Amino acid sequence: MVEYTLKKNKLDHNYHHKSSAEFDNIINGYYQLIGGEVNNYDKETSKRLQSFGEELSRKRLYEKFTTFKADNDDMIIGNHLRLFSFCEHHLLPFFGEVAIGYIPDTKIFGLSKFQRLIDKVSSRPQLQERLTHQILEEIKNRLEPKGIGVVIKAIHTCVFARGTQSSTAEFTTSAVDGVFKENINTKNEFLSIINADGRLRL
Ligand SMILES: [Zn+2]
Repeated sequence: MVEYTLKKNKLDHNYHHKSSAEFDNIINGYYQLIGGEVNNYDKETSKRLQSFGEELSRKRLYEKFTTFKADNDDMIIGNHLRLFSFCEHHLLPFFGEVAIGYIPDTKIFGLSKFQRLIDKVSSRPQLQERLTHQILEEIKNRLEPKGIGVVIKAIHTCVFARGTQSSTAEFTTSAVDGVFKENINTKNEFLSIINADGRLRL
């Protein structure tokens, strides 16, 4: 379980500048849009969403990505990392798993930082394609590795909810850089390890 401890006054939410009544109005409007019965609306709902928003904000603002000295340049892989985000076109969740592999040059992360980093960039409305590249760029900028690969497999509830033929499809996106791009053997080593156990395990 990853803990986030940033102080409340550091939150970066836009709705923080709105009064509780204004925010409650917005949520009530959405509630009715999706068919909610006016009399059943629970005022606590907007408070619950507000604290959920604060949790997302703390994840976005996380910055303690301490690095350590690399002892060697063997490939490091984090697989089945958790992903939760919102599709920016429909504001509905998409979720799944992320695999990250890199070959260090001089720096490595502590292992828990993979998840922190995914949480940081996915805690806002996103596109899966952009998210994949952002995870790669964040690691590249912080560790300057010799090579890196990121693969995301996700289920989009906007596809599921709207009942298309492909409602159970999982969508895969990938991005590679450095030796993962230049050397097909390195890329294949990464892909064969992360794909060894197949589909999403959700
Ligand atoms: Zn969507």
